[in-house]
Amino acid sequence: MALIVHKYGGTSMGSTDRIKNVAKRVAKWHDAGYQIVVVPSAMSGETNRIIGLAKEISADPDPRELDMIASTGEQVSVGLLALALQALGKKAVSYAGWQVPIKTDSSYTKARIASIDDAKVSADLADGKIVIITGFQGVDDLGNITTLGRGGSDTSAVAIAAALKAQECLIYTDVDGVYTTDPRVVSDARRLNTVTFEEMLEMASLGSKVLQIRSVEFAGNYRMPTRVLSSLTDPLMPLAEEIISGTLISFEEDTNMEQATITGIAFNRDEAKLTVFGVPDKPGIAYQILGPIADANIEVDMIIQNQSVDGKTDFTFTVPRGDYNKAMEVLNESVKAHIGAGNIIGDAKVSKVSVVGVGMRSHVGIASQMFRTLSDEGINIQMISTSEIKISVLIDEKYMELAVRALHKAFELEAA
Ligand code: ADP
Ligand code: ASP
Ligand code: MG
Repeated sequence: MALIVHKYGGTSMGSTDRIKNVAKRVAKWHDAGYQIVVVPSAMSGETNRIIGLAKEISADPDPRELDMIASTGEQVSVGLLALALQALGKKAVSYAGWQVPIKTDSSYTKARIASIDDAKVSADLADGKIVIITGFQGVDDLGNITTLGRGGSDTSAVAIAAALKAQECLIYTDVDGVYTTDPRVVSDARRLNTVTFEEMLEMASLGSKVLQIRSVEFAGNYRMPTRVLSSLTDPLMPLAEEIISGTLISFEEDTNMEQATITGIAFNRDEAKLTVFGVPDKPGIAYQILGPIADANIEVDMIIQNQSVDGKTDFTFTVPRGDYNKAMEVLNESVKAHIGAGNIIGDAKVSKVSVVGVGMRSHVGIASQMFRTLSDEGINIQMISTSEIKISVLIDEKYMELAVRALHKAFELEAA
């Protein structure tokens, strides 16, 4: 019997009425003969609320305790959904991550899944039960509860689908698929029927939070067919319609390569930039600047080193905005002590806007069109980075939405 994994996000689980609707949808799939594992998120706002409580007590909470707290939202969700399914006459059982178990490493607040034991779940499924597993959480080798990073239920779902060799993983959310850009920023953004795995990976890594990047990595590594679709439609809509709705992540080389130059526009509001002036231009400098940043567990994204003048150069890089203060501290200490460079300045009000598309491989002039569009809007580009299928620019955060709208129009991405 084919197994399908369903994942429901926070909005989809946002009230007991919504949970009852989720139960109706899941029961419909089960009635149609599928085995179903459901992976829900916490009810919307809940994870923020409980992390907020921790921060009221400690400005810099111990990450182990933070995960103990943050993981609880999902535990409420699975229990409520099991009750809702039982109320519909279904056999349903819920599990926390540690009960499965979903084993992770011990990097609290951003743990990585190492293995998933399928024994208990497979036995329940064979027994006709619908199995509901908490998203977002796991357990390390010592039995500590861990979480997978914000938005991590997507990753739980795809990883569980891969471990159980599911036929498909359906990610139900509050939009009906992956759009050319966030439909909350551009109202005439267009829904994509398919998006290639590579494009989805870029879009997720560049800030499109519709899927957590690690879920896309799992989908790619295990070639798990994954579809993003809406949980806000009629839960009893015909299955045949639902099965082909939303956006499928495809593993085919894009058949539209000749037509589509750009597939989508991603943005990340929460960037910060740091510059060290007057760095000696000699071997090992980049390592001396970025080594301590990496040791502090801060991810560096864009990097620029200027042409040197009189043996000195300027070095600029970006980090997530949440890590800005820590990065500044680390930089002040290490650079001033060991490198003897001049001033350090920073700007925590920058955003990154990226155009993404496999069509870029076969089209020239995308960068110049992007830069002309930004120039026409009077938007200054502070940094640029490119890969084979994306171009990203760093700009002042106050122009971010303007840039996204202008680029969406310039690349003719809007709905017909
Ligand atoms: P969930 O709680 O279901 O996991 P999220 O809020 O994490 O939902 O992700 C869905 C949201 O992602 C949408 O409401 C939308 O605002 C946002 N989003 C960002 N980029 C895109 C995109 N390209 N296509 C669709 N949604 C996007
Ligand atoms: N509840 C977690 C969060 O808010 C995980 C998720 O929703 O995917 O980040
Ligand atoms: Mg999400």
